[in-house]
Amino acid sequence: MSVHRIVVVGGGAGGLELVTRLGDKYGRGKDVQITLVDRSLSHIWKPLLHEVAAGVMDTATHQLSYVAQANWHHFEFATGEMIGLDRAAKTIRLAAVPAAADEGEGDLLPERTLPYDTLVLAIGSTTNFFGVPGAQEHTIALDTVEQAERFRRRLMAACVRAQNAAETPLQATLADTVDAADAAVPSEAPDAPAGALLSPPKAQRHKVNLVIVGAGATGVELSAELRNTAEVLRSYGLKLDPRKDVRITIIESSPRILKALPERVSGAVAGLLTKLDVDILCGDSVAEVRPNEVTTTSGKVLPADITVWSAGITAPPVLGKLGLAVNRLNQIEVLPTLQSKTDPDIFAFGDCASCEWPEHGFVPPRAQAAHQQASFLVKAIDARLKGQSLPTFTYRDFGSLVSLGKFSAVGNLMGGLIGGSMFIEGLFARVMYTSLYRMHVAALHGVWRMMLDTVANRLRRSTVPRVKLH
Ligand SMILES: Cc1cc2nc3c(=O)[nH]c(=O)nc-3n(C[C@H](O)[C@H](O)[C@H](O)COP(=O)(O)OP(=O)(O)OC[C@H]3O[C@@H](n4cnc5c(N)ncnc54)[C@H](O)[C@@H]3O)c2cc1C
Repeated sequence: MSVHRIVVVGGGAGGLELVTRLGDKYGRGKDVQITLVDRSLSHIWKPLLHEVAAGVMDTATHQLSYVAQANWHHFEFATGEMIGLDRAAKTIRLAAVPAAADEGEGDLLPERTLPYDTLVLAIGSTTNFFGVPGAQEHTIALDTVEQAERFRRRLMAACVRAQNAAETPLQATLADTVDAADAAVPSEAPDAPAGALLSPPKAQRHKVNLVIVGAGATGVELSAELRNTAEVLRSYGLKLDPRKDVRITIIESSPRILKALPERVSGAVAGLLTKLDVDILCGDSVAEVRPNEVTTTSGKVLPADITVWSAGITAPPVLGKLGLAVNRLNQIEVLPTLQSKTDPDIFAFGDCASCEWPEHGFVPPRAQAAHQQASFLVKAIDARLKGQSLPTFTYRDFGSLVSLGKFSAVGNLMGGLIGGSMFIEGLFARVMYTSLYRMHVAALHGVWRMMLDTVANRLRRSTVPRVKLH
């Protein structure tokens, strides 16, 4: 009997859980070969990235090496970015892997092809800048560890600069003068037609100005973590007032924050953020981003030392070039079996797939959905290997939780057992929120190791600074 080759592209929230379970199930045998492909060498659960950006999570303790996981769970790992697909030959094409600056001459690995019998695409999503001028160039997205780390370094640099300016009277005076001049610019020319803006009104510049575009879960959670970071930095000796000197503004085009969540959750979170002195600007969109400021469509100009873009997602561009049916966001259109509508040998799931959710629209791009689909695919692939008809996927919404870091957590739980939807807040919501990550760790390592990991991280946290400072 020939070996059945299963190739899973993307070792994220969904893909890594899938290959781990497939490896445990078939990896020791000779009939099925499982290969994971990822452009990175290590995995981090994406919902942790805002904590990495705020410096409250050290990536070193939460990143997982694909090579090690492959060894422990009996699958192969191939590093490289998928750049093409030949459906007739049943191969995928991987880009060459370039060497880093200190790794010698030439590519580490050349461009390669990889054959498959069953292909599963789980390459997630990327930030959607919606074509807003300057957004891609002058904002930081939170799609990868590198971006989150870059944000953290820029945050530290902005704080150090602000402190230095405050300690150097000449610089401080100059900065104040510039701000005063900005504020004095008349918003209308004397002889201009009524309402014609010469220069849009500028918001007052604080010492550190952080602007977050998009008040979905990522933007909201990041804003609370940043307030916490400012307070921790103060306790480590930074001579800035965490509330008065560090301004955090969220811009959201919808009339309310967290528009995908129930109004009660959105209202409770907005109240908590206001208490944390986070400025919320709803019903206004970003018209342009420049290196140090953001202009909104209503004409406001917000000073911005760092701008984070968390306003929407789109699937990676490569998906539009594979010859498979995609929607307007480039997500692969799949059947309820999670097979591509174009090719039954190709499955897609997680953020990169568009799967109908009857009566609600489409399965949302969430870690919860990727987790459920990974569990479903273990059964679907088993049925496929046995030549049986495939089951169909049903998404179950267990609710949503939003973490405001150490300050609180808010959300709603859903399910038949609690008779619909239940609003939760505070410690219980926080415990539920952290249990989502624990479930992911348990899916990758088993319950015992997850428990050990949790205890180890707790102990480790008591021996390191509360914010990553270097
Ligand atoms: C800051 C942040 C906070 C979030 N918070 C929450 C939350 O609280 N709750 C929640 O449910 N969801 C949350 N999400 C959304 C959640 O992270 C995603 O829905 C989930 O990660 C999707 O899983 P996935 O497996 O589809 O893709 P991902 O987890 O994004 O994994 C995709 C993988 O594919 C790899 N890859 C990409 N392109 C290629 C290529 N061409 N070739 C090879 N490999 C490739 C990537 O390296 C990555 O490893 C958050 C997202 C962010 C960014």
